[in-house]
Amino acid sequence: MDRADCRELDEACPLAECRARFSLPDGVLYFDGNSLGALPGTTSSNIRDLIESEWGEGLIRGWLDAGWFYLARRAGDAIAPLIGASGGEVAVSDSTSVNIFKLAASLLRRAGARRKAIVERGDFPTDAYILEGAVGLLDRGQELIRAEPGGIADRVDRDTALVLLSHVDYRTGELRDMEGLTARCRALGVPVIWDLCHSAGAVEVELNRCRVDYAVGCTYKFLNGGPGSPAFTYVSRDAIGAFEPAVTGWFGHADQFRFEDRYRAADSINKCLVGSPPVLSLRAVLDGVKCFDGVRMDELAGKSRRLSGLFIDLADERLARHGLELATPREPSRRGSQVSFRHPEAYAIAKTLIARGLIPDFRDPDILRFGITPLYMRYVDVWDAVKLVETVMSEGAWREFRTDAREAVT
Ligand SMILES: *Cc1c(COP(=O)(O)O)cnc(C)c1O
Repeated sequence: MDRADCRELDEACPLAECRARFSLPDGVLYFDGNSLGALPGTTSSNIRDLIESEWGEGLIRGWLDAGWFYLARRAGDAIAPLIGASGGEVAVSDSTSVNIFKLAASLLRRAGARRKAIVERGDFPTDAYILEGAVGLLDRGQELIRAEPGGIADRVDRDTALVLLSHVDYRTGELRDMEGLTARCRALGVPVIWDLCHSAGAVEVELNRCRVDYAVGCTYKFLNGGPGSPAFTYVSRDAIGAFEPAVTGWFGHADQFRFEDRYRAADSINKCLVGSPPVLSLRAVLDGVKCFDGVRMDELAGKSRRLSGLFIDLADERLARHGLELATPREPSRRGSQVSFRHPEAYAIAKTLIARGLIPDFRDPDILRFGITPLYMRYVDVWDAVKLVETVMSEGAWREFRTDAREAVT
């Protein structure tokens, strides 16, 4: 395998043309699209148009004339096919953290005598933080359980009120068995909330087929909605009827503009909405999701696995001897869309690479993470990235970047 082979793979790749849908800076190897997706080519002009024309000239008429009022549902319906959901099952609003609270508080409240809310130790921190808060607020004698990594299935029982788990582990990139765990929990009457932040837009997600009832995920990672863009909430058609919102705002009301004195929940996914939407960001979510037009998720996920497989093969050849230890499963079917390594100096290595135009990220305590974005990443990018990491490691250039202080965002 050499660079020319990678070029050939790019030339033969049916998804290669998708890269042109993005505005990517020259001279940057971007391997952090799993934290913040790249800028779609249409976003700037559409946002400018929204500001100048829809808002500037239309003023408040924009809610109907420009469809701002329906954006949360439009964006949800656009995301639905990417995660194996149906129209009307997804709405976009608030942050992932807040959406976890909204689902968890409601599910915990109707859990009867069941006491355990289970997360996995080492999962993305906000998930457990939010559950901890919800359990405390409800004050029903429920308890947050942190299962061993990979150990949730063994801890679930008839005393379990709720399970919350990421589909892809943000550190190692391990892909969890959504279908198996959901089925096991269902058999015990336990609702599961799947966090899709690290899978939506890069990994095949089949919510309906796996009979998932509840899921959340963000839009600024693989879905390219832009920094801080609002998150999505999915509640299945089967589950939406019995779902009673815990956060009861006017956007979730059955008849919002009647301004009734009492709350009545909408009889649709709208009951997951709370307050006025961030219209500018929601508009950008549509642009981000539009980049997936005509792309089949199984094909895209296949490309992701080929890119990460290439990364792993090259790393075996060139990086292992420099002490970078693969943290991501080798088996393609157990891999999300990233390749992570452990190294005690991972932070300094990440800083060095960024200074040289390759952007990965660092995750505490020792993870160097390379996000794979199959919609706009090329095989040559993987080649060039591994080569640069090899150079930095053999020079020991990261030693200059060693520091005890960490920046506020890593
Ligand atoms: C990125 C990410 C989040 C982010 O939550 P926000 O509320 O949008 O900041 C949550 N969960 C997981 C697993 C993530 O990867």
